[in-house]
Amino acid sequence: MLSRRDLLKSAGVGALALGVSSQPVFAAAEKVVKMDAMLPPPKGNRVVICGGGWAGLTVAKYLKKENPNIEVILIEKRPNFFSCPISNQWLADLVSLDFLSHDYNQPASKYGYKFINAVVIGIERDKKRVYTPHGYIEYNYLVLAPGIKYNYKAWFGDNKDMINYTRVHYPAAFIPGSEHLALKRKVHEFEEGDFIITVPPGAYRCPPAPYERACMIAEVFKRNKVKGRVIILDPKDDIAPKGPGFRAAYEQVYLGIVEYVPKASIKEVDPVKKIIKTTAGDFKFADANLVPPHQAGELVWMADLIAKDKDGKPTGWADQDPLTFQAKSDPNVFLVGDVIGGVPYPKSGHMGNSQGKIVAKIIASRIAGKEYKPTLPDNTCYSMVNGSPQEAIVINVTYDYNEKEKKITPKPKVINERSEALAKATYEWARSMYKDMFA
Ligand SMILES: Cc1cc2nc3c(=O)[nH]c(=O)nc-3n(C[C@H](O)[C@H](O)[C@H](O)COP(=O)(O)OP(=O)(O)OC[C@H]3O[C@@H](n4cnc5c(N)ncnc54)[C@H](O)[C@@H]3O)c2cc1C
Repeated sequence: MLSRRDLLKSAGVGALALGVSSQPVFAAAEKVVKMDAMLPPPKGNRVVICGGGWAGLTVAKYLKKENPNIEVILIEKRPNFFSCPISNQWLADLVSLDFLSHDYNQPASKYGYKFINAVVIGIERDKKRVYTPHGYIEYNYLVLAPGIKYNYKAWFGDNKDMINYTRVHYPAAFIPGSEHLALKRKVHEFEEGDFIITVPPGAYRCPPAPYERACMIAEVFKRNKVKGRVIILDPKDDIAPKGPGFRAAYEQVYLGIVEYVPKASIKEVDPVKKIIKTTAGDFKFADANLVPPHQAGELVWMADLIAKDKDGKPTGWADQDPLTFQAKSDPNVFLVGDVIGGVPYPKSGHMGNSQGKIVAKIIASRIAGKEYKPTLPDNTCYSMVNGSPQEAIVINVTYDYNEKEKKITPKPKVINERSEALAKATYEWARSMYKDMFA
């Protein structure tokens, strides 16, 4: 469990990840250990959810729907919601910022959960407490849904100057907010040359997103008659998922604008000289969308719930039961959304929403003292591969569970033929998801 020193350390790491300087963080951490309770003690049915993204919002709403008497508290550091899904279309001005933006007050007031706009800076599982700069909150059940964090250390070790330089000059734009605004500005101001996108190795948020983003950036270059190329550096042997659909778009819609480079594992990134050295050669760039490897969000590290591999090294992802999403080492904690590990689920908003409904049922049943046999989540993911006319491709995945082998197997169905009908379906999907979380 977290000692005072651990708490100071984790508060420091967490706040640094939020881009705050280290001095006030440690001063704030001093306050953390003396802090007062924000709310009266829980009465046995309080669920505190940390992270109001696709997964956390769904758990909050569906817990209240399962049982309005459950006390649900959602803590989220952002003042408003910005959707990563459809943000690639927004890069190419196919939708407005309004389409992606939503307010947290509407679902909180409609479904009756408490929304607290604050940063979680510490978690003490032995005391069942979550700390914010405004005080601590005790829980009976804790849901951690903080999404991802970037692992720039894989590129730069402890060189914080390089990390900060890269964050500011070449934002990854896989965590919503300023990074997306910066990327859009860069794409629209781009004059000529090579614009590089790096695909992260291992598990990362939204596997098709870099390939779709390449299409949408190419769409802007084509429209603006910019003499530019979008170069995708991918450590994989081939595009996945929806490889044939993306390839067809690169060859037919954006020929000469998008270039796909497989087997390009990154050996070195020099953001100052604008050179990336990879196993497929060295690449100079005029501008770039540098996406580093991903890991579970900081809160999972703070809570000491990261899985270890057979050599005892952190895998980077949460150590939860594959069916119940319960932390393996703590029956009162659940992990949901992009943070989870050890399962063949893609890290997607649809998946986080689907898991969130399952987790809500499990926790509500637990509170009611009933057994609940969890179902398996599902995933749907559209990708826009042409901006004019708008055309998309899609993958739908359901899952099978083999009880004897304790194995989850994906059953994907892919439509690689791009069409305007699928582009329409993309927006219908997004509207129905936003409605499910907010309306
Ligand atoms: C370009 C792009 C396109 C995508 N397209 C699609 C798509 O078409 N379809 C699809 O299904 N998915 C898509 N995704 C993936 C999707 O965005 C993620 O999988 C989804 O957001 C994961 O949900 P989550 O709840 O786990 O994390 P998030 O949605 O990131 O939510 C985590 C929340 O936790 C909050 N948080 C973190 N730390 C703290 C803290 N210490 N205190 C308080 N709050 C905290 C964050 O602010 C955030 O709001 C896309 C992603 C990208 C980047």
